Amino acid sequence: MCQNVIDGRYHTTCGHFIAMSTRLQDCLRPNCLFSSRHCHAAGCKSSQCVRLMVAPQRNPIRISETRCADCVMRGAEGMIGV
Ligand SMILES: [Zn+2]
Ligand SMILES: [Zn+2]
Ligand SMILES: [Zn+2]
Repeated sequence: MCQNVIDGRYHTTCGHFIAMSTRLQDCLRPNCLFSSRHCHAAGCKSSQCVRLMVAPQRNPIRISETRCADCVMRGAEGMIGV
C-alpha cells in the first residue's frame, strides 16, 4: 500500500512535529488505487484493488532543540497578566 511520508521539523523540547512537505511513497502495485502502476482507469470498481492508504509516516529531516513557534507564542501569551 502507498504511504504518505511527511517531512518536517521535530522539536525535542515540546515534542511537536511541524510538517514541511508531504510526499507519496508509491508501492508500485497494479492493484493499488494510489499507485502510478494501478492497472485500471480512474473510477476503478474492482474489489481486488486496495483503496486504503497506510497511516502517514513522519520523517524528521530537521531536529530542533527549541520549542516550536506555536509553543513559543503560547508561552508568550501565558506571560501576559502574570
Ligand atoms: Zn499503493
Ligand atoms: Zn483498480
Ligand atoms: Zn510545540
